Formats: sequence, structure tokens, C-alpha cells
Amino acid sequence: MRKSKTTFSDLICSECGSVMTISRKICHQREYLHIKDLYCICCDKITKHYEVHDITLLKKKFEFQDNLNEKEETIKKLLLKKEK
Ligand SMILES: [Zn+2]
Repeated sequence: MRKSKTTFSDLICSECGSVMTISRKICHQREYLHIKDLYCICCDKITKHYEVHDITLLKKKFEFQDNLNEKEETIKKLLLKKEK
């Protein structure tokens, strides 16, 4: 029997910055910052979500690096907005 390994992936709502964690089979893991349509509980509708894989690692990156790409800048602003 073949075990299918699963991993968890964090996705961030592009409208309200909510973080959603989904489980994925490792072989189906999507690339970093892939955009996925997903239902957001806070927005109560389907919105675009950025797939960031691991929100903890991403927050560390925001703290220690300033060479962020366009999508990362957007996510950083979303998270800041949400923390207020
Ligand atoms: Zn949302």
C-alpha cells in the first residue's frame, strides 16, 4: 500500500487578509504565491487567495528582508491592515 503524504498550506484572502489553512497532498502542492479561488469565512464569498505555504515563515521573511516582490508586498499590507 502506498502512503500518500499530506502537508498543510496557508492561503491568504486578498480582500481581508484572513489566513486559511488547507491540507494538500505533497505531489499536488502548488507553487508559492499561486492564486486560488477559495471561500473566505470573513468575506462570506469566494475570493482570490494567495498560497503562501507557511505563514510563519513568510512573516519572518517580512521582518528580515526588504527585497519583496509585488505579491509579497500586497500580502504584507493585507496582514498589517488586519492586525490594526
Ligand atoms: Zn476574506
